Amino acid sequence: MVYYSEQQIRRVRVVRRCDGYYCQFLINVERQEHYEPTGQVTGIDLGLKEFYTDAQGNTVTNLRYLRKSEKRLKKAQRRLSKRFRKEKKQSNNYHKQRVKVAKLHLKVSRQRKDKAIKDALALVQSNDLVVYEALKVRNLVKNRKLAKSISDASWYQFTQWLNYFAKIYRIVCVAVPPHFTTQDCSVCTTRVQKLLSTRTHQCPNCKTVLDRDHNAAVNILKKGLNLLIVY
Ligand SMILES: [Zn+2]
Repeated sequence: MVYYSEQQIRRVRVVRRCDGYYCQFLINVERQEHYEPTGQVTGIDLGLKEFYTDAQGNTVTNLRYLRKSEKRLKKAQRRLSKRFRKEKKQSNNYHKQRVKVAKLHLKVSRQRKDKAIKDALALVQSNDLVVYEALKVRNLVKNRKLAKSISDASWYQFTQWLNYFAKIYRIVCVAVPPHFTTQDCSVCTTRVQKLLSTRTHQCPNCKTVLDRDHNAAVNILKKGLNLLIVY
């Protein structure tokens, strides 16, 4: 249990959510956690098939239960818009359904946030350096078909938490530009063109065969290390 003195409370806010009222306290406290260097560094490739793949080839998957609640939310939203068309806007049934949708929405966003926090913390606690791609979210959201999956995966939220925990644990977390991280060979830098459906990196030059995302994660780590070198 942690206690704060009255003087540390900077602001108090009452927030209304669909399942009740919440009281938020903004506390003025420098959060700092003890960190033992692990000697590990990594790059992560945020993906669709897996939530991310790191430079060591480990993967963190997207959550199935999150998908389930998202499906339920979609259904409820459809029912709501049907009601809206059929009945008068102010009907009891309409309002009941509206509250149901709002509650599901809240549930999904809380599940997403929990997952992002858990994954980001685990990554920060086991690495002295984490490198990720800066613009990937914006790049891929342009593609409409992928947009849904990307917002599902909540990459943006994840990288926000990653930076937050990196500060608290005093590890280095850097973003690098995403150009050619998927195409280039992580061993010999030969550019090997790939379709979105090409799952394996096969280098004709040095004969390296690697999972597509694993290869990208190694390139991302290398870019991060290059960025940190001071001449
Ligand atoms: Zn190669």
